[in-house]
Amino acid sequence: MRCPFCRNADSRVVDSREVDEGQAIRRRRSCSACGRRFTTSETMVLAVVKKSGVTEQFSRDKVVTGVRRACQGRPVDEDDIQQLAHRVEESIRSAGAAEIPSHEVGLAILGPLRDLDSVAYLRFASVYRAFSSIEDFEKEIAGLREAIGGTGGAAETTDTADAADAADAGGRAD
Ligand SMILES: [Zn+2]
Repeated sequence: MRCPFCRNADSRVVDSREVDEGQAIRRRRSCSACGRRFTTSETMVLAVVKKSGVTEQFSRDKVVTGVRRACQGRPVDEDDIQQLAHRVEESIRSAGAAEIPSHEVGLAILGPLRDLDSVAYLRFASVYRAFSSIEDFEKEIAGLREAIGGTGGAAETTDTADAADAADAGGRAD
């Protein structure tokens, strides 16, 4: 990579460290011509293979957009959505595959979204699983009830908020 100051092609790595729990490497470089320093970041390119066979780079922003749409009008804030997208990306990347089918991205979203908001989950699942009848919704809702078990909606909301607070207190990698 060329020096951003003088365009020289040669640089020396002066420091290198893992970030994002080992999913990226950041390198501090020193330009061998002008001596100025800059930082580069290296991440594995995760390819998403669409139904059509076309591949595109995984984008956390796309996850955010899809989830935000499903959460419209729901008591879910932007932080929750960003955190969910982060979790989805982590779970996908931790699988270690270089490419994944797009429907697996959808699957990875469904779990955390169900924890976040039942209604948003149903909306997302209805599109993603192509619900075509009321029966499809009924089946999904029955499954949802089972998964939630005895806990009411209020308790679920509190748990989500607590988890978010705990994560905030712990700080974020980026
Ligand atoms: Zn330079």
